[in-house]
Amino acid sequence: MNLDKAGQAALLKLGELDLEIAHLKHEIAKTVESSELAELTTSQTSSAGDLLEARTLLENIQTEIKRCEEDIRLVNERLDRDRTRLNSTSSPKDAIGIQAEIDSLLKRKDDLENVEIGLLQDLENAEIAYKQISDDRQLSQGKLNELRNEIQQRVDELKNLGRKASADREIVLAKIPPEILSRYQALAQRQVAVGQVVDRACTACRMTLTVGAIDTLNNLADDQIGSCPECQAIIIR
Ligand SMILES: [Zn+2]
Repeated sequence: MNLDKAGQAALLKLGELDLEIAHLKHEIAKTVESSELAELTTSQTSSAGDLLEARTLLENIQTEIKRCEEDIRLVNERLDRDRTRLNSTSSPKDAIGIQAEIDSLLKRKDDLENVEIGLLQDLENAEIAYKQISDDRQLSQGKLNELRNEIQQRVDELKNLGRKASADREIVLAKIPPEILSRYQALAQRQVAVGQVVDRACTACRMTLTVGAIDTLNNLADDQIGSCPECQAIIIR
């Protein structure tokens, strides 16, 4: 097939640009599918559950403390009433009954206060655990945001390179005759479509060519293009 020197240079450039564009697409996909990003995202999702659990525990303890304090308040009210009654009664029998109730209320109050001390300790532990998870999450979120920005930046860079390569591709496409271009495109769908002979090997398939094949390619006129006998790629000399 005939193709002038300018066309041959354009075809070679087209091959390079298509490889570059394919490489950039691969790089973009690889960058977006960052395993570090996936790990951090999974860890943030699972720690969101831990955080919710820790907060629920915290709130449950706070509710229990309020309930306990309310019980203590009721016991105190009852104690105040009983003491007033004790001071105002003239019946020794009533006084004994009231005193017995006061004693059991004091015991009840003591029990409740012990429960409250335990709950306050639980609350402190729950607050520490909640703060730990919350701090860890904040740290991870920071890392995640940073990583997302880095990935976005890298993808933007790759896309810019891709846009430049695509623009260059349009320019070289215009320099290639349609019949050569369709041959190139048919080949490019399944392999590297254009190559050169370097160190006796085809750069498209990397196979070493026979002396006969190299002679045939060398004997072509300057405005002719050959093809690799191994992979059928268009050979530019
Ligand atoms: Zn080849």
